[in-house]
Amino acid sequence: MITVPDIIIAVDGWSSTGKSTFAKLVAKQFGFLYLDSGAMYRGVTLHALENGMISGGAVDEAALEPALAGLDLHFERPGDGSTRLFCGSRDIEKEIRTMEVSGWVSPISAIPFVRRWVDERLHSFSEKGRVIMDGRDIGTTVFPNAELKIFMTASDEVRAQRRFDELAAKGDPTSFEDVMKNLKERDYIDSHRETSPLRRAEDAFELDNSDMTLHEELVWIQGLMQGRFGILG
Ligand code: C5P
Repeated sequence: MITVPDIIIAVDGWSSTGKSTFAKLVAKQFGFLYLDSGAMYRGVTLHALENGMISGGAVDEAALEPALAGLDLHFERPGDGSTRLFCGSRDIEKEIRTMEVSGWVSPISAIPFVRRWVDERLHSFSEKGRVIMDGRDIGTTVFPNAELKIFMTASDEVRAQRRFDELAAKGDPTSFEDVMKNLKERDYIDSHRETSPLRRAEDAFELDNSDMTLHEELVWIQGLMQGRFGILG
């Protein structure tokens, strides 16, 4: 029997640098399981918003902590190559991408008990095989021994434009200025929080895709995968 070595690829970086687009492409090209850690934080945030745990501009941590014990967030793969976040039997993939959730996800993800809860689940989802996971602290905290670490960056303008186009395509009327403001706020909170702040792992390869096409990103990772693991994709 041929055994497939476990390989974990950690993709971290600033908001809207195209981490999930890149990670999904790598997963498809090289046969890895893709896991979106940000979706989990967004799922917790949606749950808090829908259950009145955010009011008067603050998160009710005393209500949120016990609620996590009964919260069933998991990924399902409908078979068309996509991965969708479910809360119980409800598909919440669309709801977790709204600006309201984006506005609260960084304060929620800075709460230590939320991070512990998400980390436990990320570990249980990725027990075996080849996994590519994107987020903010995958290479530094969640999988510090990941076989390959990538840190993604891009200019503020490019990132905001990408996010704005994505929201506009979904019919979301948020202005470019508000998208830029949200990006900067999330970058600030994510990189200044006490528990596992966003930072580049020392052994991460940096990918600045400000002026790169997705095809160029693919060529870049193909070279790395072949050099590191001898894997062709
Ligand atoms: O990746 P995405 O932009 O969907 O993540 C949403 C938010 O979740 C981030 O802005 C960050 O606050 C939080 N996050 C995190 N750690 C991760 C992934 C996401 O704190 N590993």
